[in-house]
Amino acid sequence: MTVSARLLAGAALLSVCATTTSAFSEEVNVYSYRQPFLLEPLTSAFTEKTGIKVNVVFAKKGLGERIKAEGANSPADVIMTVDIGRLDGARALGVTQSVTSDVISANVPAAYRDSEGHWFGLTTRARITYVSKDRVTDTALTYEELADPKWNGKICIRSGQHPYNISLIASMIAHKGEAAAKEWLEGFKSNLARKPSGNDRAQVKGIYSGECDVAIGNTYYMGKMQTNDKDPEQKDWADSVRIVFPNSEDRGSHVNISGMAMAKHAPNRDAAVKFMEYLSSDEAQKIYAEANFEYPVKAGVGASERVKSWGELKADELTLNEIAKLRKRASELVDEVAFDDGPAS
Ligand code: FE
Repeated sequence: MTVSARLLAGAALLSVCATTTSAFSEEVNVYSYRQPFLLEPLTSAFTEKTGIKVNVVFAKKGLGERIKAEGANSPADVIMTVDIGRLDGARALGVTQSVTSDVISANVPAAYRDSEGHWFGLTTRARITYVSKDRVTDTALTYEELADPKWNGKICIRSGQHPYNISLIASMIAHKGEAAAKEWLEGFKSNLARKPSGNDRAQVKGIYSGECDVAIGNTYYMGKMQTNDKDPEQKDWADSVRIVFPNSEDRGSHVNISGMAMAKHAPNRDAAVKFMEYLSSDEAQKIYAEANFEYPVKAGVGASERVKSWGELKADELTLNEIAKLRKRASELVDEVAFDDGPAS
């Protein structure tokens, strides 16, 4: 074979490869802790709009470590996850990079993004009180009141070390100071109906079964229970409770985020920025928030009718950067008061 013939054959092979592997000229690789059903509507809408293909790797844990291990060769462009703990944790692990985008800055309020562009919130969820419809008449509650002896033996909550609770406790440190937050946590612990265990929905089940009158949980679980056709008993759990948004008469309810970050060595950075900008748009905000009964971060994009039916959310304006800084101390306080040991018998 002559040199030119070989080149020709090689070129033919390349073009075959190009057409069989992908019809897309641009791609973006997403590493996601969020479930496929949540991302699929977004990725297909984005691809339809831009022609950019989105490849998604799903995992329940270890994505940050995986990106770290892959190093400079990591195919990861965008990380999608929930909770400030995980977003800031990815930054702390050194697997993110800063993104500056006028589009994202205009769409995502400053309180819900890293001041240095390492992570951005896409949806918010409030950590609220579920109260028994039958046994609780209060229409307003505060986090502070969870330490009030009037709730002795009546409150259910998952482990104090769960990231959702750590952020809530960090917000208490930010607002009240460390000493007051610790005292609060001690009072809260002594009001528990049982040793913290199970997930958020298990606490609502505790109200349904009569073990507790007040449960702490994230807002979207109400939607997940109300619409649960796979496990219809959860509809009964949901039906036994009302949501009371804590501190709605003062600073507002504690909120956390689901969000995104640019991976440190993103090989498709330009396409990834376009994807991130799309996720902050009205259209994507609506799709994403509705899929998991959450609140869009972008002002003016309303929550779904179901979410609105739970009452009005007034969100605490404390920045998530501030909460991220206090998470470690919050975790130490949980251990110092032995929160997870439950109420003294
Ligand atoms: Fe959750």
